[in-house]
Amino acid sequence: MRERSRILIVEDNEANQMLTRAVLELEGFEVEVAGSAAEALEEIEEHRPDMILMDVQLPGQDGLSFTKELKRDPAYATIPVVALTAHAMQGDREIALSAGCVGYIAKPIDTRTFGAAVSHFLGMAGGDRRVAAQ
Ligand code: MN
Repeated sequence: MRERSRILIVEDNEANQMLTRAVLELEGFEVEVAGSAAEALEEIEEHRPDMILMDVQLPGQDGLSFTKELKRDPAYATIPVVALTAHAMQGDREIALSAGCVGYIAKPIDTRTFGAAVSHFLGMAGGDRRVAAQ
């Protein structure tokens, strides 16, 4: 069993990729990044993540439609997905939940609380893997 939780960030914006990766690595997570749904699927098949952070707006297939696809696949349905959305609008949470996400985090992310939010969603998902760094 891995000691550190593995997080897959699906995000096409390079600055957001770097920021989210840096914050989560500092928190002790193992981090992989994919820039599209197609890249993410390869990554999921190769290194099954403990959680996926899913940008809603991606080039090609959008994040929520990709999430629905993952949730229909018994091989991947149990991996918790948290939406990353730039639209902090009322109703976004419901849209994300109805796509199968366990919740969402609004962008721009708050670097002081982002790691705790990710840990919270991992705990909700009942993962037995915990962040090793303290
Ligand atoms: Mn995007």
